[in-house]
Amino acid sequence: MREKKRFPSSRSAWSLATEAVHAGRSDFAALGVHAPPLDLSSTYPVADLASGTASLDSLVAGGGPCGSSVYSRLHNPTVARFEDALARLEGAEAAVAFASGMAALTACLMSVTGGDGGGDRRHVVACRPLYGGSDHLLSSGMLGLEVTWAEPDQVAEALRPETALVLIETPANPTLELIDIAAVVRQAGEVPVLVDSTFATPVLQRPLELGARWVLHSATKFLGGHGDVLAGAVATDDAGAAALRQVRLVTGGVLHPLAAYLLHRGLQTLPLRVRAAQQGAQLLAERLAAHPAVERVWYPGLPGGDPAALVGRQMAGPGAIFSFAPRGGFAAAARLMSDLELMTPAVSLGSTDTLIQHPAALTHRVVAEEARRRAGILPAMLRVSVGLESPEDLWRDLEVGLAAGRSATDRVA
Ligand code: PLP
Repeated sequence: MREKKRFPSSRSAWSLATEAVHAGRSDFAALGVHAPPLDLSSTYPVADLASGTASLDSLVAGGGPCGSSVYSRLHNPTVARFEDALARLEGAEAAVAFASGMAALTACLMSVTGGDGGGDRRHVVACRPLYGGSDHLLSSGMLGLEVTWAEPDQVAEALRPETALVLIETPANPTLELIDIAAVVRQAGEVPVLVDSTFATPVLQRPLELGARWVLHSATKFLGGHGDVLAGAVATDDAGAAALRQVRLVTGGVLHPLAAYLLHRGLQTLPLRVRAAQQGAQLLAERLAAHPAVERVWYPGLPGGDPAALVGRQMAGPGAIFSFAPRGGFAAAARLMSDLELMTPAVSLGSTDTLIQHPAALTHRVVAEEARRRAGILPAMLRVSVGLESPEDLWRDLEVGLAAGRSATDRVA
């Protein structure tokens, strides 16, 4: 049989658009299929005990199967194809998928701070703001970690001999601040850096090329892209991936094969979706910034929104998410959110439809009020994840909502 679709390719690297369509499909020609087989097996027959034991030992050590996958918590071919594809897009040696973004973050932390991985290194340096759940995981003490919150330019000062990793999120949720990844990596020295790149996706940013050790995604968002999957994924080097797989098989935060199938399918249109949504975000952010009923807009694509000029250098574009504050504080924001007809009032992001939510009341409610205030998460702030609708329709929705809010304020005054 003619061998086709070798990924990694024997030729030089393909462009991201090509990788997105073809990666994770290297076994298709041999299988004689055109779409990824959805393998729902929970267990796998072993040919004999000798080969079953060899495969089990390899999987428990964090490697791949030799022969049987043994058990789906250890390995699943549908999940592995999605992992291969994401690794290609991130320029990583490997990727490991999890049941959610939070399971992925927990596994990263455990892989370097717990048991075999970290010994007595239980200190983490992190930069705020982070997604509320990530902030909560670190602040809760649930993993027995000690956390120092640092400004991105003061990471070096926060390091200790027992620091296991540095955690940053860029663009940050929900203030859209950009952090200079290479500068943080330089400050961290020997200490590995984890970048939550959920807002950027590999279409706009590839943190491993800038020296990060792990790039983490809530794959629930743009990677899946259709609001129907909860998932997490981490791209890293082979040793990092082996350690993550070991945490995953012990703690059990595995990705369901159907979710992996949907994610793999979603990756094919990722570049198109991200770029189209980004165009809409740029247009809406610009118009909102000029609107008299709007106090402030947070978006790296606006003048002043990217003080370190990282768009173009670190990111290929400002992304598809922005935040804004209507004049009139919390009440105006709450009213606008429920007045909109087209935008979906919901947490999460990266879907085909535009989602609007209130970080202080919803996604970042678990963050202590003082930390929220210091991170700039204002009571009037609304976060918008732009979808694939016509940007002009989205603008009409916002304009009508803002006008209704203004006349309500005038009536009160
Ligand atoms: N990281 C970021 C930036 C997020 O926005 C989220 C969720 O909103 C997460 C991590 C957690 O991901 P999940 O909800 O898939 O557990």
